[in-house]
Amino acid sequence: MSETKPNAQKHEFKAEIKQLLEILVHSLYTSREIFLREIISNASDALDKLRFESTRGAEIIDSELPLDISILFDEKNNTITVKDSGIGMTQEELINNIGTIAKSGSSEFIKQLADSASDANNIIGKFGVGFYSVFMVAKEVIIKTKSFKKEEPAIEWSSDGLGDYEISEIKDEIKRGTTIEIHLKDDAKEFAEKYRIESIIKKHSNFISFPIYLENEKVNTISAIWREPKSNITKEQYNEFYKYLTYDSEEPLDVIHISIDAPIQFNSVLFIPKKNQDFFGYNRENYGLDLYVRRVLIQHKNKDLLPEYLGFIKGVVDSEDLPLNISRETLQENIVFTKISNHITSQVFSYLTKLAKDEPEKYKELWKEHNRVFKLGYSDYANMDKYSELLRFNSSFNEKAEDLVSLEEYVSRFKEGQNEIYYAVGNSREAIATDPHLEIFKNKGLEVLYLYDPIDEFVVSSIRKYKEFDFKSVDHIDFNKIDKLKNEKEKTSSLEELSKDDSKQFDSLLAKIKGILGDRVVEVKESQRLSDSAACVVSPDEGFSSSMQKILRMSNKDLTEQKKIFEINKDHKLTRNLLKVFKADSNDEFIKDTVEQLYESALLLEGSLIDPHKLASRINKMLDQSSDWYTSIKKI
Ligand code: ADP
Ligand code: MG
Repeated sequence: MSETKPNAQKHEFKAEIKQLLEILVHSLYTSREIFLREIISNASDALDKLRFESTRGAEIIDSELPLDISILFDEKNNTITVKDSGIGMTQEELINNIGTIAKSGSSEFIKQLADSASDANNIIGKFGVGFYSVFMVAKEVIIKTKSFKKEEPAIEWSSDGLGDYEISEIKDEIKRGTTIEIHLKDDAKEFAEKYRIESIIKKHSNFISFPIYLENEKVNTISAIWREPKSNITKEQYNEFYKYLTYDSEEPLDVIHISIDAPIQFNSVLFIPKKNQDFFGYNRENYGLDLYVRRVLIQHKNKDLLPEYLGFIKGVVDSEDLPLNISRETLQENIVFTKISNHITSQVFSYLTKLAKDEPEKYKELWKEHNRVFKLGYSDYANMDKYSELLRFNSSFNEKAEDLVSLEEYVSRFKEGQNEIYYAVGNSREAIATDPHLEIFKNKGLEVLYLYDPIDEFVVSSIRKYKEFDFKSVDHIDFNKIDKLKNEKEKTSSLEELSKDDSKQFDSLLAKIKGILGDRVVEVKESQRLSDSAACVVSPDEGFSSSMQKILRMSNKDLTEQKKIFEINKDHKLTRNLLKVFKADSNDEFIKDTVEQLYESALLLEGSLIDPHKLASRINKMLDQSSDWYTSIKKI
């Protein structure tokens, strides 16, 4: 540890940094090399910022310095030093930037690491953990930096990464930029070896667009690959670039390389990650494409080049036709920028459409990982047709929950006379399979889309139609319209038709049921749609479907419960028995209990039973009674 300098000030690290340091210091051995990636990436950012300032005409000291990064190492003394001629830092910037955790990356990283059971090692590798990762390998770090701004003194910062750091002014002349001198821990000597350093740079920092010199020898070889003709680039080069860009350890699922010369010139390399990188769901801001103008990085993660719902796509865009001194704020108003962005969006749609058609299995993989993001596109009316073609759902015609159908396929299987697309909402295939509303669809041989994801119903309600066909929830259909379609399976009932007199009695029973349920239902009527179940509830024509109501209820607590129609299946054994009891004594308590139970079970099945207590105690009462009957029948 160096001696405290006479004019040095001591500062304590903020709590969250201590917490981060604690995690990093104890992190597993295999991730440690990424400290160099982080330090080099900061150096490259500092150079990008300097280039950005100079294209804007800012006054810059030492303007003759080449923009590069150099790395020195000393095996004897166990040090590695990374030096850049970038933007540098003033004392205030040094305290603000290095003394607190930048919004990018690190703070979310600790938060997630703290409450996730995931393997820290793996996460550290994937994540941009920033400057502090250096303390995985360092027992002391000394930063010397001089800002590009005139008249700012050079500053030295030093710390052992334990609790505090020291800052002092440097009296000697030094040039613009930042030098980071890392004194390695005894167990991290490997990072002062040439071969090791070189291989880390090749692995993680090969695409840095400034030269990196290792003891005066240039190590990074690959330049802006997006500017090269496609045929010059190997799959390995794409993969390597992708890993550099995203920190993903896996290869991408696919790459889209776009080179356009007219009417606007731009190049772009886009990647589809194999895995959804939104690993914890907090990463919502972590999307966007890197925007370059003539190789100068103008903005990291620009959010306007692609719509948010295509944000799972990673990559870079570089144009000759944008002005170099364009400000990030005015980008969106720039016509060339808008044209580039429209062009990229349409290229991505063409790519996805082609993939879905030519390589359905690969498209399925993409869909599985990225559908949650993609579905957010339901309000992009400009691209609605293409968007709809790319949607996938599980359906009653599939064998497994993992299988998918497109709307095009669904429509191609329309039954004679069908002109609507039917869907059912539920948590799983099993849950939907028990939905009594589906019985008539089975009898008619009609395909039903199964919507498992809460956003799915928003999607179909927003897009409303596919081609000229409306989406209809199975609990919210024009019954007569479906009833007119041909039956594929005849409704079979072993029960005899009701006599005229019994039919009348059945009508009175329906009135009785309405009396029992009172205002809770709009109407009680004989069901045409049921074959296996005794009863179900349906939404009246003018209302919302049940699942939509559930969503609305979640977002707006005051929404009054929408009343349903209660339908009874006349040709069900339970109904027939109920009719017998009714004929014998229309006020028998058994009728009331049974009706309440049927009604609440129907609500339960479609997920709208709010309080299950009564249902449970009624079941217990009925079990009590049936156990009596059972033992008496069995004579035990
Ligand atoms: P991030 O790079 O995600 O912002 P880091 O922890 O890596 O987070 O770095 C924190 C900040 O410190 C950077 O945003 C930058 O402002 C500053 N910084 C780090 N290294 C340098 C450097 N070599 N030159 C200039 N500024 C730097
Ligand atoms: Mg960084």
